[in-house]
Amino acid sequence: MSKDTNDKWKLENWDLESVDGSENQHAAEPDAFEEYDEDPLLDAIENLDDDELDNAPRYEWAGILGRFVALLALIAFLGVFLVPSVVSFVQATLIVPSSPDYIDLVTPGTLGARFARGDIKYTIVFPDNFPDSQKNFYLEPVYNAMAEWENALDSIVDFVPAGPGEIDDLLITFVFDLDTAGVASMRPAEVYRTQLAIKLYTDSAMPEKAYIGTVALHELGHTLGLWGHSDYSGDAMYPIAGRIFPSKRDINTIRKIYGLGPR
Ligand SMILES: [Zn+2]
Repeated sequence: MSKDTNDKWKLENWDLESVDGSENQHAAEPDAFEEYDEDPLLDAIENLDDDELDNAPRYEWAGILGRFVALLALIAFLGVFLVPSVVSFVQATLIVPSSPDYIDLVTPGTLGARFARGDIKYTIVFPDNFPDSQKNFYLEPVYNAMAEWENALDSIVDFVPAGPGEIDDLLITFVFDLDTAGVASMRPAEVYRTQLAIKLYTDSAMPEKAYIGTVALHELGHTLGLWGHSDYSGDAMYPIAGRIFPSKRDINTIRKIYGLGPR
């Protein structure tokens, strides 16, 4: 969820005067500009004829060349950083995709990798000594996300807690030590078993409860069989989680995986 790229977009950082060095030239040779009215460089370019070209002081060409180099640098910067960023931003946010789902972006080889219909037995693990009073802050968004996916699938799957000693289909762990907000993976097993982890925060860095909800919905989407990412920011399975309920495309995609028609 980095916003670091904004720093790369700051055009204010491009100081043309310091790039072409003409400010220094002006300061060094103030008398040379006395015969010009306002912008000596512009006048020099407009009034150029062969004689003046021959007699033109070298610093004018240094200034013009400097500006040309600065312009090239600016064009290169726009081409390399700004234009692709703007294009992908517009694609991801403003253009609503025409396709009703993103099944093509879900790894084809794992299409069969989903839970069987019916109960999905889950286990939830908090760190030892994690206070009960704080658990609900994290559990409530997870339960809400489960209900959203169940609803999207017409309740053909049902998340239920695994009983004592029972083998679970889904392991949910809450951990402080996690690089990302959440992560999901398949567990090696004869049957389809998955796990996900959601990051715990200390009091000083506590996010909104809704944020936990976006992470839970996204990671649960993976474990249900959406092993891939949407390319549209309006979907829960966009790489940057931002929804607390699935989009129409999320719903259509997960329904396809479970053999249901679009809604
Ligand atoms: Zn993801």
